[in-house]
Amino acid sequence: MLTSSSQARRAIPAVDTLLKAPAFGVLIHDFGRPLVLDCLRKLLADQRKRLAGERSAAVPDDDTLAAECRERLSVAARPSLRPVFNLTGTVLHTNLGRALYPAEAVAAASQAMARPVNLEYDIDGAGRGERDSHVEERLLRLTGAEAAVVVNNNAAAVYLTLNTVAGGGREVVVSRGELVEIGGAFRVPEIMASAGCVLREVGTTNRTHPRDFESALGERTAALMKVHASNYEIRGFTAEVPAAELARIAHAGGVPMIEDLGCGMLVDLEDFGLPHEPTPRESIAAGADLVTFSGDKLLGGPQCGIIVGRKDLVARIRKNPMKRALRLDKVRLAALEAVLALYDDPQRLRTRLPTIRLLTRKADEIAAQANRVRSAMQQAVGEGVAVDVAECASQIGSGALPVDTLPSSGLRLSPLNQRGGAVDALADSFRRLPVPVIGRIRDGALWLDFRCLDESQESEFTSQLHELQLPGD
Ligand SMILES: *Cc1c(COP(=O)(O)O)cnc(C)c1O
Repeated sequence: MLTSSSQARRAIPAVDTLLKAPAFGVLIHDFGRPLVLDCLRKLLADQRKRLAGERSAAVPDDDTLAAECRERLSVAARPSLRPVFNLTGTVLHTNLGRALYPAEAVAAASQAMARPVNLEYDIDGAGRGERDSHVEERLLRLTGAEAAVVVNNNAAAVYLTLNTVAGGGREVVVSRGELVEIGGAFRVPEIMASAGCVLREVGTTNRTHPRDFESALGERTAALMKVHASNYEIRGFTAEVPAAELARIAHAGGVPMIEDLGCGMLVDLEDFGLPHEPTPRESIAAGADLVTFSGDKLLGGPQCGIIVGRKDLVARIRKNPMKRALRLDKVRLAALEAVLALYDDPQRLRTRLPTIRLLTRKADEIAAQANRVRSAMQQAVGEGVAVDVAECASQIGSGALPVDTLPSSGLRLSPLNQRGGAVDALADSFRRLPVPVIGRIRDGALWLDFRCLDESQESEFTSQLHELQLPGD
């Protein structure tokens, strides 16, 4: 005699029959036959196991099985790289992708993705057969330099510059106070070694003088270099050689002066009420022969590295075989051109360039936003977590102005029961939302800085909060 569970097991339809059912037809259309087949086999195996353990379980119908398959396949099909809400308070967050493209750059980039473009094709005989020519004129206007090259990122720009000027074992003189490590394993001494140069350190960590550079100049010297310290600051008893002084010493010694600016904002941030950040134009005016900076830091564009400077040196950089390996693709080039076009009128940057728009948001406007979201947040986290609107301090990020912060506002989420790991678990729940929310843990609370919550995304943010699943739920 058959038990009811083995009857049920027998009643599970065959895979082939199921795949012919309309509900599975839709699944196959959406996910493709191989994945649906694989998923269905696993699902049926699970069902058999379950039915074996239960005396009188009902056999799920086609639609139920298809719905379960859809659930599993959707989770598996979710892209690995996906949008998040950056509520960390760091505007240019390297691990969250740094600058956001303005709409103009998104349009230009997607057009370049989908259509042929004149990347290295001289259409009008104007000598635009070189990919960098699409952005060079604007870069020269914005920096006052004679020539410009763009490559994959600023690390590549520094590498290519050093390799071209001092490869083959020649010396580059740098102050000990500037031998920095930038996040993501960019270390000046290591880049130098891999570019085939010999690093000649001068001065001390806190003080370097003109005479230190002067006495290091010799037969083997290929360049003097200045590196923007980016993510740290030396205070107290300090001395550094200003760019103009360093350029003068380099030129007296017959070698170029190279400056790695890191951020390299193209316009004066003070015009937007932000602290001053060195500009490539200032470096060029001070006499730097080559200046390198990032495209996706304060400039607010795509990931790229920009080299501007003397025509003869830039021409040598272009001829370096590594330029081909480090060149920029058409998509980012299109985006960069669109971003640089916004700089034609710097007044537009405040509204149209996301990086500047986010950096210049006023604390009271951000606080008003936090207030609008507060009650939905309280409802989502329940009574176990106190939610209040609190002042906080945003950072620019990516090494720009590490010490200066921007007054901001957000929500402070404090678990009332401060048992071990309660805040970490709360942060984890927010990271598991459909669009993960990334905050910052400080003083036993999860802080959500609203500076980078674009008002156009506020309703998306609020409406997914009901899906929050707290550890105790
Ligand atoms: C950020 C930075 C770099 C590296 O630039 P990427 O664009 O991230 O490659 C190099 N030098 C300095 C001084 C920097 O701040």
